[in-house]
Amino acid sequence: MDASKRFKHTLKREGTVKLNLASIRNVYCVGRNYALHAAELGNQKPSNPMFFSKPTHSLVKADGRTLSLPGDRGLIHYETEFVIHLARPYVEGLPIEQIVDSFAIGIDFTLRDEQEQLKSKGYPWLVAKGFRNAAVLSTFFPFDSIDACRDKEFSLHKNGVQVQVGCIRDMIFDLRTLLRSCSQQLGLDAGDIIYTGTPSGVGEIADGDQLHLFWDQKNIGDVRITLS
Ligand code: ZN
Repeated sequence: MDASKRFKHTLKREGTVKLNLASIRNVYCVGRNYALHAAELGNQKPSNPMFFSKPTHSLVKADGRTLSLPGDRGLIHYETEFVIHLARPYVEGLPIEQIVDSFAIGIDFTLRDEQEQLKSKGYPWLVAKGFRNAAVLSTFFPFDSIDACRDKEFSLHKNGVQVQVGCIRDMIFDLRTLLRSCSQQLGLDAGDIIYTGTPSGVGEIADGDQLHLFWDQKNIGDVRITLS
C-alpha cells in the first residue's frame, strides 16, 4: 500500500487527529534550535540544524496517566517542544502542508547530569534522552499551515504554574529548513515525527509533579510524574 495512504488519519469531530503511537516510525529531535536555550545551557548557537533521535519505546501519550521516570540517575529536565508528523515522504519543493499533516506539543525528557557526563567523555548521549517515557506527546491537531502556527504559543505548566513558553517563529532553523536538512542527512518518510527543539526555560522535575501541556492557551495533555 502507498505509504501516504497508510498514515492518513481520521479527523475526529472536535478537530483533533487520531494517531496511534505504534504507527510512528522515526522519532527525530533537534538540539539547540532557540538562541536563548542554547545560551542557558552554555552552548554555541549552531550553524546547521543538529539532529538526534529517540527509540520509539520512549513514546508515551500525555493522556492523564502517571509516568514513571528514573529516580536514581540524577537531574531530569523537561523540554517542551512543537512536534510535527509527516504524512508522506519528504519531497523537495512540495508545500510543507502536503508533507506535514499534524502537530502536537511534546516533552523531551532529558537526564541532564547523565547527558553532561556523556558529552564530556565524547560518548553518545542516547541513554540520557532515550529512556522509557522520555518522549511525551499531547493530542495531535491538523497542521493547516506554518502561518496558522506562527502566532500561537505553546507552554508547560508545572503544578499549576507556567514554567516554559515558546513560539515557532523564534526558531533558529524554521520548519522548512529542518525538513530539508533532516531529509538530506537522515531520510524522512511517512510516519516520522520531529521534536523541533526547546525554547529557554528548561527545568527540573520532581516526584509527584503534575505537568500540563498547552497550545494557544488550551490544555491539550497532562501527566503526573513518579520517580522510581
Ligand atoms: Zn529537546
